[in-house]
Amino acid sequence: MTATVDPHIGMIRPVVPQTPQGCAECLLFGTPWLHLRLCLTCGHVGCCDESPSRHARRHAHTEGHPIVRSFEPGEGWRWCFVDEVFV
Ligand SMILES: [Zn+2]
Ligand SMILES: [Zn+2]
Ligand SMILES: [Zn+2]
Repeated sequence: MTATVDPHIGMIRPVVPQTPQGCAECLLFGTPWLHLRLCLTCGHVGCCDESPSRHARRHAHTEGHPIVRSFEPGEGWRWCFVDEVFV
């Protein structure tokens, strides 16, 4: 097993969640979400891929912020939307 460091890891910043109460876009549009993801570059909170609108993924691609962390209680994993891997 070779350990490769994800090239996007350098985009991680010390962030503060912008909308800790929920997905930023879903709060705006009144759409539902399942789980939340926190952008580790700017603090955007977006909904997961199982949610109807997938705002975390959209944010990653439109803003160029590839790495999110789970914003669910008790979960600390990180995910890169470009490489589609846990980082
Ligand atoms: Zn990556
Ligand atoms: Zn959303
Ligand atoms: Zn972001």
